Amino acid sequence: MTSVAGTTRDVLARPVEWQRRVFTLVDTGGVVGASEDPMWEAVANRGRRAAGAVDLVVFVVDGREGPVPADEEVARELRVRGVPVVVAINKMDDHRARDRVPEFHRFGFEPIVEIAAEHGQGIGDLLDEVVARLPAVPMAAPTIAEEGEAMVEPAIAVVGRPNVGKSSLVNRLLREDRMLVSPIPGTTRDAVDEVMRWHRRRFRLVDTAGIRRPGRVAESGKVETVSVVRARHAMEQADVAVLVVDAVAGVGRRDASIAGEAAGAGCGVIIAANKWDLVKGRGPDFAKEFDDRLREALKFADYAPIVHLSALTGERTERLLALIDEVDAARRRQVTTGELNRVLGHATRTQTPSGVGRGSVQIRYGVQTGIAPPIFTLFTSRGARLHFSYERFIQNRLREAFGFTGTPIRLKVRGR
Ligand code: GDP
Repeated sequence: MTSVAGTTRDVLARPVEWQRRVFTLVDTGGVVGASEDPMWEAVANRGRRAAGAVDLVVFVVDGREGPVPADEEVARELRVRGVPVVVAINKMDDHRARDRVPEFHRFGFEPIVEIAAEHGQGIGDLLDEVVARLPAVPMAAPTIAEEGEAMVEPAIAVVGRPNVGKSSLVNRLLREDRMLVSPIPGTTRDAVDEVMRWHRRRFRLVDTAGIRRPGRVAESGKVETVSVVRARHAMEQADVAVLVVDAVAGVGRRDASIAGEAAGAGCGVIIAANKWDLVKGRGPDFAKEFDDRLREALKFADYAPIVHLSALTGERTERLLALIDEVDAARRRQVTTGELNRVLGHATRTQTPSGVGRGSVQIRYGVQTGIAPPIFTLFTSRGARLHFSYERFIQNRLREAFGFTGTPIRLKVRGR
């Protein structure tokens, strides 16, 4: 929009977000303009082609100069195309432009917005006019949850292999909740959910009956299989899963398979290392060594925060509740397209994208296309897929930049 006609050689496309609408802004690089530049004809053609496929044209004119023959030419072409037009009279910071405004009315386009692009003046008004005229398509990214929706309590699944202390933890959480809330029917047959309060928040504990009536008889075999299936059901309904592990017994294969299910279900994950009261005397390095071993064993959930707690004494259960709140918020977080592309730009400059197979890949831009869990659609050159390790890299950068604590992040790759 701010480029001077004829000076940009490429057609640039940028995602823009305004008033919860996401649209792509195409810089035509100057459709026409007085220029001796031999590149001009090529640039102008490319600009025309780009303008042919758009939903709306922002027709930028120079207020200081007034209408020039080239403007007439553009106006004629736009009228033929019948595409909606918003006229932006630029350089309105110059007093000479004042008197020339009425002259632009003869093009017959409405509305006319006065801007000073260099000073950012009138840009908000211009975007308002643009957004008001966009075709009524469902927006790419979902809107932020409405007030009413935000009142729905997040569903929490407490999962883990037998004897790690799930039932003790649920009892502890419900006991500390002094406001009694009666059990409500869960979504699975014979399952009962219980709602608990924490400060001004409410959390729904999924299938507390299933947690309290676990198959703790067998360490392996049938009963355990039932409990894994039950855990999977709970996680599919959950916003956040608390994966309880045993600080004394350590972490093994069965904990890992439940962690993998959690990541697949798309819920947030917190790892609660329970029975911490029993390992407190083990010296200063124990916590770090424990966490290292846990990270090694639970690779699928490397984004999950760890909390060392005791269901028996209640130590750090408060911290767990704060984490549940944080992870639930992170999972629903929506970032603006501008912020997202700033982070993507920085990431791709730090590390050049690697694709699958030969040839280089460019990430042109990204848009957040979903929440709970966050989904990002990245538009790449030729629609090429990204290498697995590069997707990991991007996910980690997004996590750092936006604090997506404990939530899986999904990436989709598209061509444009
Ligand atoms: P679940 O099968 O995962 O529901 O485990 P339970 O809640 O039934 O606990 C299994 C055993 O571990 C019981 O004997 C509990 O008393 C004990 N336990 C649970 N949490 C703690 C804890 O934080 N510290 C200690 N020392 N023991 C615990």
